Amino acid sequence: MKINIIGGGPAGLYFAILMKKADPSHQIKVYERNGPDDTFGWGVVFSGKTLANLRSADEESHAAITKEFAAWDNVDVVHRESKISIHGNSFSGIARLQLLKILQRRAEELAVEVAFKTEVNDIESLRKDADLLVAADGVNSAVRTRYAEQLKPNLDVRSHRYIWYGTNQLFHGLTLTFRENEAGTFAAHSYKFNQTTSTFIVECDPQTFDRSNLEGKSDEDTRSYIASVFAQDLGGHPLLSNNSKWLNFVLVKNANWSYENLVLLGDALHTAHFSIGSGTKLAMEDAIALANCFQPTSDVAAALTEFTSVRRPVIEDYQAAAFESMVWFENAAQYIQLSPIELAFSAMTRSGRVSYEDLKKRSPEFIQQYEAEKN
Ligand SMILES: Cc1cc2nc3c(=O)[nH]c(=O)nc-3n(C[C@H](O)[C@H](O)[C@H](O)COP(=O)(O)OP(=O)(O)OC[C@H]3O[C@@H](n4cnc5c(N)ncnc54)[C@H](O)[C@@H]3O)c2cc1C
Repeated sequence: MKINIIGGGPAGLYFAILMKKADPSHQIKVYERNGPDDTFGWGVVFSGKTLANLRSADEESHAAITKEFAAWDNVDVVHRESKISIHGNSFSGIARLQLLKILQRRAEELAVEVAFKTEVNDIESLRKDADLLVAADGVNSAVRTRYAEQLKPNLDVRSHRYIWYGTNQLFHGLTLTFRENEAGTFAAHSYKFNQTTSTFIVECDPQTFDRSNLEGKSDEDTRSYIASVFAQDLGGHPLLSNNSKWLNFVLVKNANWSYENLVLLGDALHTAHFSIGSGTKLAMEDAIALANCFQPTSDVAAALTEFTSVRRPVIEDYQAAAFESMVWFENAAQYIQLSPIELAFSAMTRSGRVSYEDLKKRSPEFIQQYEAEKN
């Protein structure tokens, strides 16, 4: 088969790897606008279950990924002067750049052709030129826009603002920190992803954003303002920017996942709010699902129909949980009226996927603490 892939992010590279591994006679070319060392973002998170999926799909890249990662089992909720730890959660983090390097090396080893610094403009020619065109071109997918009539995307731009930073303050575990100042409420999602660095994502509601006069502030002023909001959490470490900008989360869905020999993958196809795990995990699991659909057949239409039917329910379920989680964070200003332990319980059960009973099993000390305060 001849396969063209637009986008050398986790979805595009991993799909290329899995297809080439399954059949080295496939001719696969990945087109990536950036160079091999250009990347954005800090760490990416995987759950224990995702790692098991990555292991059965490709042991080689799984081994390289797990050699590099930082693992933890606690979620910490920080509110006022308290830090509440909830154990029994299996997660790990790795730098996005490191992950991309591992996937690039693995793709090279398998003789996948990757054309870096190559922006695709003429999408239709690439589609006509191959048996399969995979659009793994990210959240702002030009392919999705080009074929909007056929794919029928739905883009829900949320009003909350968020920004991705790094910091050398190490957060051992997924740490959710809530802070208030005269402008309003801020929440930070942070976790260590290597020996020296943590991801530090900050979000706030639009009213807080306006009252803070953050619009148009320079990178340096924004970092220093946010560092002052989280001064007691950052331990004097500055926030590190990597082309960091305030964004609005865009919830992406598509009525149709494919059109003729074209299929969407990863963020181009769907997004799930960052509070419930990362887009990277879903992007790589999409690649596994799509590659599996080509195992029994090389009939592109049949494989793409199968991909939609097996993967759509999984994504819908995930997006439903992520939606609840996102709305909870959008209403954080209400929840921070709660005591730290009540806030931690509410945060842990926000997506509707973790119950009181689950927490009792996973982290009995936490539930004891919660019960003690209630009674
Ligand atoms: C600013 C920002 C920071 C982020 N930071 C993090 C983070 O720290 N941790 C985390 O877990 N997630 C982060 N995310 C989310 C995460 O990047 C995605 O969920 C995940 O990477 C999805 O993988 P993907 O392969 O579908 O898309 P992407 O990783 O976005 O990859 C798409 C690729 O396509 C390329 N591309 C797009 N259009 C073209 C074109 N026309 N021609 C050639 N190449 C093209 C892009 O350069 C890009 O490399 C971040 C997202 C953004 C927007």
